[in-house]
Amino acid sequence: MTIAIYPGSFDPFTYGHLDILRDSAKLFDKVIIAVGYNSEKNGLIPVEDRVQLIRDCINVFDNVDVTSYSGLTVEFAKANNAEVMIRGLRNTIDFEYEKNLANINSKLDNGIKTMFLLANPEHSEISSSAIRELVKYHKDLTQFVPKNVQEYIYKITR
Ligand code: ADP
Repeated sequence: MTIAIYPGSFDPFTYGHLDILRDSAKLFDKVIIAVGYNSEKNGLIPVEDRVQLIRDCINVFDNVDVTSYSGLTVEFAKANNAEVMIRGLRNTIDFEYEKNLANINSKLDNGIKTMFLLANPEHSEISSSAIRELVKYHKDLTQFVPKNVQEYIYKITR
């Protein structure tokens, strides 16, 4: 049984994240979405609410779980018996950044392999940071994030 983790900030969870998740759920026996606490990033949504919003989006999958974590991602992966870490690639900027991260992680624990999945071209322009920017200006988010995420953001920003 191959367990994969899909780590990230997911602030907020977008259709781009959902694409990567859908592909991952087909490829692996079990996928754990791991929402990381990041002290360097100013959050829009509290981590526990991000987890709940994602939980409401994943009930269509029977092999996907979501949880929060703090500390090193490789340690979280190991503690959950995951052998694979999934990351999504939108462009060459992502690639350069992710390659570096993957190399560091493999030095920390060579038993956990990073696998990259290409973004769906339809959603490859979506980033959580761009969404956070749109939120500032109360723009419609229908094309970018699942409905429950949009409703939640609407509530906290009006
Ligand atoms: P992090 O802060 O760890 O980069 P993000 O929540 O921004 O967390 O992203 C988590 C993962 O999802 C990263 O691998 C990122 O490249 C990927 N990702 C983000 N947006 C998209 C998208 N639109 N399509 C595919 N992958 C994406």
